[in-house]
Amino acid sequence: MEENIQSKMFQEIRDKEIFKQAQQYSFEYLENIFNRNVYPTEEAIDNLSKFDEDLPDGSTKAKKVLEQLNQYGSPATTATLGGRYFGFVCGSALPVGLAAKNLGTHWDQSPAMHVLSPIGSKLESVVEKWLIQLFNLPKESSAGFVSGTSTANLCSLAAARYRILKKNNWDINQKGLYNAPRVRIVTGKQAHSTILKAIGILGFGQESIEWVDVDNQGRIIPEMIPELDENTILILQAGNVNSGAFDDFETICAQAQKANSWVHIDGAFGLWAGAVDKLKHLTKGIEKANSWAVDGHKTLNTPYDCGIVLCKDKEAMTAALHMSGSYIIESKQRDGMFYTPEMSRRARVIELWAIMKYLGREGIDRMVLTMHERAKQFSNEIGKVHGFYVDNDIVFNQVIVRCDNDKMTERVLNNIQNLRECWLGSSVWLGKKVMRVSICSWVTTEKDISISIKSFEKALELERKNTSRGV
Ligand SMILES: *Cc1c(COP(=O)(O)O)cnc(C)c1O
Repeated sequence: MEENIQSKMFQEIRDKEIFKQAQQYSFEYLENIFNRNVYPTEEAIDNLSKFDEDLPDGSTKAKKVLEQLNQYGSPATTATLGGRYFGFVCGSALPVGLAAKNLGTHWDQSPAMHVLSPIGSKLESVVEKWLIQLFNLPKESSAGFVSGTSTANLCSLAAARYRILKKNNWDINQKGLYNAPRVRIVTGKQAHSTILKAIGILGFGQESIEWVDVDNQGRIIPEMIPELDENTILILQAGNVNSGAFDDFETICAQAQKANSWVHIDGAFGLWAGAVDKLKHLTKGIEKANSWAVDGHKTLNTPYDCGIVLCKDKEAMTAALHMSGSYIIESKQRDGMFYTPEMSRRARVIELWAIMKYLGREGIDRMVLTMHERAKQFSNEIGKVHGFYVDNDIVFNQVIVRCDNDKMTERVLNNIQNLRECWLGSSVWLGKKVMRVSICSWVTTEKDISISIKSFEKALELERKNTSRGV
C-alpha cells in the first residue's frame, strides 16, 4: 500500500474521529427510528440517486464517505428495528445484540477454524450446546452458523442427500447426481419458497417433488402423505410464513421414523415456539427429525444476518459441506467451516451468544410469548372493525387480514403503506388476496398495535370515501 495512504489510515485509527462520527450517527439513528415513519418517504427514496455516480478516480475523505452514507442512507432505511414494521417476517434487534455486533465488527474475526479465531470457535461450541438444549434436540446434533434459513435449508437437504445416497453406496461428492439412485422429496403445498430454491440448487428438480395437501391453516394433512421409504426426504414446517401454523410433528415424524426417511424441519421463525412454555405444544415431536433450520434474526431478534442449521447426523453434515486443503489445520476444537458452505464468514455467533446470555431461558420465553400475545391483540382488535376479516387461527405471531374483496384489500393495503404509520405486505391465502401481519419485534407494545389498528381504519375510511366519490 502506498505509504502516504497507509499513514493516513493509521492516523484515522489513532484519532478515532471517524469511529466517533459513525457512532454519533448510530446513536441519532437509534433515537429516531422508533418514532420515525416506518417506511422511507418519497423524498428519501428519490435522494438515493445521490449514490448514482461512477467510481471516483481519486480518494474521498473518510469523513465525507460516512457523511454521505448517513445523510442519504439513514432516511432511506425501513424501520424494521421498530415496533410497527409487520412486513415479511423480519424481527428487530436487541440493543445488547447491536452492541456486541459492534464490538465483534472491530474484532473482524472469521470462525472458519479454531486457529483462525479461538473466540469465534468457542462461542460457536457454546451456542451449539445452548440451542440443542433449548429446543430439546438430540444431544449429538451439530450446528452450523450461516446467513439465514435459506442457507440452513440448503445445508440440511445437502446432508440428507449425502446420507441417503451413501446408504445406496453412492458417494455424491465423487460421483455426482447423474445416474444416482433416486431420492424422493415429499413436502407440503405450503412449503416456503427457499425450500424450492434449495431443491433446485441441489439438482433434485422441483418437478420431482411429491406434493402433500394441506388444511386451511397450511398444515400438512398427515393422511395425505404418500408411503414413505428410506430414500425419502420429508420436509416439514414449524411456522407457516402466512398463517404461522405448525405441522403435526408428533404424528408425522413417528410415521417417517418407521419408514427410515430423513425429516427436515424448516423452522425459520417458528422453532422458537419450542422455547416457550405456553407454546411448546406446537413443536412437540421435532426432536424426532433429522435436521432443522432456524433464524436468529427473526424471532430471537439478533441483528442480521444470523441463521442456524442443526443436524443430528454430524457425519452427513460435515461430509456434505466439507472442504480440505494442505494448509488447513484441523484441531480438536471446533472448526466452523466444516458445518457451513463457506470457509470465510463473519463471526455472527458473537451477537447470537450475547443475546442468549442476556435473555436467558426466561427472557426468551417472555419475549416470544409477548409477540404471540400482541398478535392475538391485533387479531381481536382488527376483527372488531367492520370491513376487516381475520383468516387464520392465531397460534403464533402471524395474522392474515383481508377486506370484502381482492380489489378492496389491495387498495386498503396501498393506503396503509402510504400512511407509513406501520408497514406490511400482501400475500395470497386460500385463493384470496390478503394482508400479512407478522409480529416479531421485541419493541412492539400494545400501543403500537392500537396505533396500527387506527391506521388500518383510516386506510379503509379513505378507500370508502374514494369509492363513493367514484375515484
Ligand atoms: C424467512 C423464512 C425462510 C428464509 O429465511 P432467511 O433467513 O430469509 O434466509 C425460510 N422459511 C421460512 C418459513 C421463513 O419464514
